[in-house]
Amino acid sequence: MINYETQIVVIAAGPSGLAAAVQAAEDGAKVIVLEKSASVGGAANMGMGPLGIGTRYQKQQMIDITVEKAFNMFMEYTHYNVDARLVKKYFEQSADTIEWLEEMGVQFEGAFRYFPKSEATWHIVKTDHGIGPRAASFMNKALYERAVELGVQFLLETPAKKIIMKDGKVGGVIGIDKTGQEIEISCQAAIICTGGAGSNKQLIQEETGLKHGEDLFSFAIPGLTGDGMKMAWEAGAGKTQVRIEMAASIEGMEELPQGISNIFSQPNLLVNKLGKRVMNEEQMQNSTYLSNVVVHQKDKICYSIVDSSIVKHYVRNGVDNVSLVRTNPDVSDFYDGIKMAQENNNKDLYIANSIEELAQMAGIDETALIDTVDRYNDYCDSVDEEFFKDHRFLRPLIKAPYYCAKIRTGGYGTVGGIKINENCEAVNESFEPVPGLYAAGADSCNIYDDSYMFLLPGNSMGYAVNTGRIAGMSAAEYVEI
Ligand SMILES: Cc1cc2nc3c(=O)[nH]c(=O)nc-3n(C[C@H](O)[C@H](O)[C@H](O)COP(=O)(O)OP(=O)(O)OC[C@H]3O[C@@H](n4cnc5c(N)ncnc54)[C@H](O)[C@@H]3O)c2cc1C
Repeated sequence: MINYETQIVVIAAGPSGLAAAVQAAEDGAKVIVLEKSASVGGAANMGMGPLGIGTRYQKQQMIDITVEKAFNMFMEYTHYNVDARLVKKYFEQSADTIEWLEEMGVQFEGAFRYFPKSEATWHIVKTDHGIGPRAASFMNKALYERAVELGVQFLLETPAKKIIMKDGKVGGVIGIDKTGQEIEISCQAAIICTGGAGSNKQLIQEETGLKHGEDLFSFAIPGLTGDGMKMAWEAGAGKTQVRIEMAASIEGMEELPQGISNIFSQPNLLVNKLGKRVMNEEQMQNSTYLSNVVVHQKDKICYSIVDSSIVKHYVRNGVDNVSLVRTNPDVSDFYDGIKMAQENNNKDLYIANSIEELAQMAGIDETALIDTVDRYNDYCDSVDEEFFKDHRFLRPLIKAPYYCAKIRTGGYGTVGGIKINENCEAVNESFEPVPGLYAAGADSCNIYDDSYMFLLPGNSMGYAVNTGRIAGMSAAEYVEI
């Protein structure tokens, strides 16, 4: 057994752990970080940036969003089913956090909306290659370098296994180093930041009833197995519901050119297996709403359908909705994608010469689908009496071939598990803090109630970085006593 000694152990080096380590070290504490994988940044290396409210970018861009407005929106969205004190503290700190990140060298492209109906709270990190996925890895790198500069010690490929409790207080953390040896770090405080249980299929099924790969197609990032919540519960922390941070997914398109997923994420006709429309398709851009719709349908599946004239329209005029995540809005590669899908015998995409044939291929109720398409085509000449879709997005399905893609329930990972208060102290079922134990990021993210709040984008990484800071401040204060 190898022994270390420090004041605070931060368990994991995703954005919440990195922010916690930097903040605690800036506040004067001695910090060791244990990280399971060989690199830092966690899931956020795939993302683009955190939320900020009331930042200088928003002021410069004349965007009218205040902490009061965002707070009220958020609390109404969640029906006040969440900790208002924590939400307020997080939002209030978020502008300062953007500046704090800038001071350590992070640059931002500005404040962005995820889709037009959302607010411009998403602060996309500047990279050396423009806006796009993985931008936030630049933020993680800056946080890591700042932590190292402050003397934080990182032990990579060293997962934490257990919190040692002594006389009812945190007294140490046990981990396994890269050679397989057990290590023990004696400390006064531990901050759990292990990012949830996105790849723990069993835990997800137990907590949500959803079966990964059958009716849930979420990111399952290796290493996110729920270690932190298990260690926290064992140490006496209370348990909160673990949920999926839902975002719908268009299945089986990863290998195909972006034009395919670009076209099927437009506000096209969307039906369920019963052949019925399920929503105003304009709202599909909010992938949380879309996922919620899909999860309520038969076999938890929907179908996005276009005809060849709609495809031609998109290719000629561009798509209705662009996405900063799919960096290239061009869809001229759609036909190449269809050819590839046919050659690869893709099972998630259907190409048919009639609506009848499409229904048979996809397993949709044929009579109902024919009726739905008839009525939808009528709405295109008048108004959408069924779901009030804007006329701009109503285009009739009249010309073969017809193309159809499966839309499934997806998600980024899990949120929630560890009960905390607004100081990110882990608390027991009686709301009493477990002395020396803190949690931040996805493990502690109990603030969305049943649905991710995509109307304020950047919320998830914003929550991680800000709660990391709050936990770092609280723990540094605690160890000083
Ligand atoms: C594709 C994608 C894009 C995204 N884009 C955005 C975005 O633009 N904006 C946004 O707000 N959110 C985004 N998110 C969500 C965001 O990335 C997460 O909410 C955020 O990373 C959570 O931070 P975290 O620190 O809680 O956990 P994570 O980032 O998941 O990090 C957890 C870390 O814990 C480590 N770990 C696990 N177990 C142990 C253990 N026992 N001991 C030590 N270490 C351990 C893991 O190796 C990992 O490094 C995105 C997510 C995905 C998947």
